Amino acid sequence: MYLGYLEGSLLRGSVDLHMHSTHSDGTVNPTELMRECKKKRLSWVALTDHDTLAGYQEAKQEADQLGIYLIPGVEISVGFEPGSLHILGYFMNPEDKQLLAALKDIQNSRKERNPKIIQKLQALGMRITLEEVEALAREEQKMQGEIQIGRPHFAKVLLKKEYVRTFDEAFRKYLSKGGEAYVEKWCFTSKDVIRVINEAGGIASIAHPSSMHLDSFELEKAVKKMVGEGLGAIEVYHSSHKPRQRSELLDLTKKFHLGVTGGSDFHGANKPGLSLGFLGRGIYLDEEVIEGLKNKIRTR
Ligand code: AMP
Ligand code: FE
Ligand code: FE
Ligand code: ZN
Repeated sequence: MYLGYLEGSLLRGSVDLHMHSTHSDGTVNPTELMRECKKKRLSWVALTDHDTLAGYQEAKQEADQLGIYLIPGVEISVGFEPGSLHILGYFMNPEDKQLLAALKDIQNSRKERNPKIIQKLQALGMRITLEEVEALAREEQKMQGEIQIGRPHFAKVLLKKEYVRTFDEAFRKYLSKGGEAYVEKWCFTSKDVIRVINEAGGIASIAHPSSMHLDSFELEKAVKKMVGEGLGAIEVYHSSHKPRQRSELLDLTKKFHLGVTGGSDFHGANKPGLSLGFLGRGIYLDEEVIEGLKNKIRTR
């Protein structure tokens, strides 16, 4: 498999399997996002909104127009300690009933959590309401109907109201695990999430494994456990990964016969300074990564 370090080659930025739209906590709508992918000369992409497939059909229409290969994708939050665990799913049937029902459960859990975050912020003396957060999300997303409100929207309101100086500070002080206004949301276990993805015909990959906050020994143990649950791949390439992390993760994929995925985790203005298609300095993946994932599904 070619996983090149080809600075400036024709393959430049050809694969990006991790990005968010206005259907979760990105600031670019699915149509515009596909246009941006085209500009970045990406050929194989996946829209991986948090806990929803709502943006897929719109993105697919535009991707087809533009001649971009769009893989059905999603990024699902999983209950995990000490850090956080997100599992990416690819190639699922986007209409799978069981998958859609599971996503609905997680969306409801976020809806239950959000007012509790507001209560905590108010108890800290801040003048902030859920309506304000919703209004900001709606304005940003320019969407009618159901919107998904996540912590980045809270962070923006805190910033706008000058309770914090930066978006990062909002997370560090208040919204991150351990922060003063952090509220845990109910999540599925990795076993359930992987099963639902697999049963929908897809393949599951651990997103940005560094967010699990494990050392090498614990990470291998966690990967081994999830392999037993049907894990199919690891996100070896992510915009935040250092070369050493990549080689450690690549070793794990070899050891456990897993596929490799990679993506930027683009969120538009909600992750300033991060370019769509950026998987790490000098890192460009090609179609073989996609074929590798398809093969894992076929030979399961
Ligand atoms: P939620 O799923 O609503 O709890 O929101 C989680 C999202 O917040 C993540 O997917 C990230 O996009 C964002 N996020 C989490 N931690 C941070 C952080 N420390 N700094 C900036 N954004 C973060
Ligand atoms: Fe996010
Ligand atoms: Fe994530
Ligand atoms: Zn993400």
